[in-house]
Amino acid sequence: MMSTREPAEIERDISNIDSTLLTVSEIRSSLKYFTKLVQSDKKGPNFVHLFSDRLNAVKRDLNTLSSQGENLKGALEHAQIVANENKFNWALIKSEAEKEAAEEEIRFREEEANSAKAKETGSLVKANAEYAYKQLSSIVLEQKPALIAPPKLFFTTYIDQWMSQKKPTDIVFTITFEEEERVTFTGSTCRIKICARKSLVANLELEYERNSDSLTVHQYDIKGVKEEKNFWQDSQYLVFQKVNLLATDAFEDMLVFFAKESLYNMLDWFVSYHDLFTAPCYRCHKILQFDSPQYKYLPPMVRTWAKKLPVIDNDSPVARQAPGTVYHMRCYIEYKNNHAM
Ligand SMILES: [Zn+2]
Repeated sequence: MMSTREPAEIERDISNIDSTLLTVSEIRSSLKYFTKLVQSDKKGPNFVHLFSDRLNAVKRDLNTLSSQGENLKGALEHAQIVANENKFNWALIKSEAEKEAAEEEIRFREEEANSAKAKETGSLVKANAEYAYKQLSSIVLEQKPALIAPPKLFFTTYIDQWMSQKKPTDIVFTITFEEEERVTFTGSTCRIKICARKSLVANLELEYERNSDSLTVHQYDIKGVKEEKNFWQDSQYLVFQKVNLLATDAFEDMLVFFAKESLYNMLDWFVSYHDLFTAPCYRCHKILQFDSPQYKYLPPMVRTWAKKLPVIDNDSPVARQAPGTVYHMRCYIEYKNNHAM
């Protein structure tokens, strides 16, 4: 009876198990939303629409789970054979599992404490500043009726709109303002933190220019979610170094659009990384590709992005791919060479 399994297969199994667990937690979250909607007292005019939307999200997740279950069959059979042979080092497994659970718990508590503290201080400072400003303006400024409506804040407005209209409902993806949007003479600036669960965290310093209706990224930094944890640190380091490099090219292409479209392109691109460690490459259909003896296997870290098409190319027979297509770096370069991009 076959009971050996190659390291590459085991790595794929782990990746499959990981994505299945993620689906389970997404099912829980979509079920929670669905229940909340059904139980809510206020059923607005779009209740029917929301109801079928939420129900579809649950159905979709369940379908994903059943297909992922198929992928796990091999691994489960192998586990059963190994379990029958009973050749495990139980003491080691138990201590490793306990250690990891404890670490996870500490990290979670820290995150919780930090975000609560930050919120508290933030709102306190804001309240104080607003109070002081009101006091001051009542002395310094002439009391005039507000004739001009306050300027619409670009990032606040459109990030909100993207989250409610464009973000896929079944993906855990958050955007927080690390520095609130500030109006400048020419437009506004802000610093945001993007977090795609289990894949990446990005910090971005952004500026909106009103006259040219354009967007600039002043600084950015893309990291792994668990980077501080020293978990698979080497390989993660390289993956995110490569994503950072790629972002330079990607931003250049996706920011030549008008500001709102540029912002949407960027958010679409980041959300397409939600399956960084689980999606197979479009070209070679594999998840892990051997990189080097030092870094071993890497997932496909390229997600294609929105790009303005050159006019001459319009009747080229090669259909352009939708943004968000998954590639290994090497497969992507190959694809670009083949299509002379
Ligand atoms: Zn590939």
